[in-house]
Amino acid sequence: MRTRRAARRGAVFLAVRGGLARMSDEVDVPEDHPRYQSLLTRHRIEAGVEKGITSTQGLIAEGRGEAFDYLLGEETIPSADRAARAAAAHFLLAEHPVISVNGNVAALVPGEVVELAEATDADIEVNLFGRTEERVRAIAAHLREYGASEVKGLTADARIPGLSHERAKVDRDGIYDADVVLVPLEDGDRAEALGEMGKTEVVIDLNPLSRSARVATVPIIDNILRALPNVARHARDLSGSPRETLTEIVEGFDREGALDAAERRLREGATRESE
Ligand code: ATP
Ligand code: MG
Repeated sequence: MRTRRAARRGAVFLAVRGGLARMSDEVDVPEDHPRYQSLLTRHRIEAGVEKGITSTQGLIAEGRGEAFDYLLGEETIPSADRAARAAAAHFLLAEHPVISVNGNVAALVPGEVVELAEATDADIEVNLFGRTEERVRAIAAHLREYGASEVKGLTADARIPGLSHERAKVDRDGIYDADVVLVPLEDGDRAEALGEMGKTEVVIDLNPLSRSARVATVPIIDNILRALPNVARHARDLSGSPRETLTEIVEGFDREGALDAAERRLREGATRESE
């Protein structure tokens, strides 16, 4: 996967307090504000809607996600980190890994999507619940601004079986052909249909009760702002590992345990050790 590093460097300030890299066209959120990260996130989604890359439904999804993150303690819990490592191992073992991108993902973490694609040699495909040609184009252009050399999703010459026409559209040489797919913030129905196609699904979702998380091979119950760079970090760390090591990581991952640990954290707070 080739990228235009210069473009990305120009578009993002990398050294930012607290992890979130601020984009150059971003409004001024005072960095000493106690809810800095959260305000910046909201602004990103808002800007995404204004740019035509995020749907108004995306605003509602963001609000739901924020509530879960608050309860989670706004940190990556140990089970989510194990999931991120298993996800990285799946991506490195894959024949054809694909990262599916929707409007919220594009607005929140465009640079991180490109970085993960680079680290794992994955394809990037725009895949929308409320698909419009215009929005697919806008998202693809946005991702290219952040260094993506190729963005799939515009050809839409294949269908995911079991879904109605518009929601089923994918690229034949993209998601349709993939063996491992990362579907962050995905709708439960489509996550289920992709699973039925026999794909290994990595889902990033803050809600462990969401159907998308429940059908995933690897559910990462974490904020995508933290999860995506974390998967990329694990991928860089594991790259060059023998296939047996990667297979061991994949096989040793306990998906039910990860869902349970996240649910316990949400319900009981950080009181248990078995996370
Ligand atoms: P379903 O059970 O069908 O999956 P849902 O209520 O989860 O229904 P979705 O459309 O999948 O509906 O909602 C989007 C999901 O994305 C929510 O579960 C929300 O918690 C999650 N979400 C929103 N923002 C983020 C984020 N920044 N990081 C991770 N997950 C997020
Ligand atoms: Mg869901």
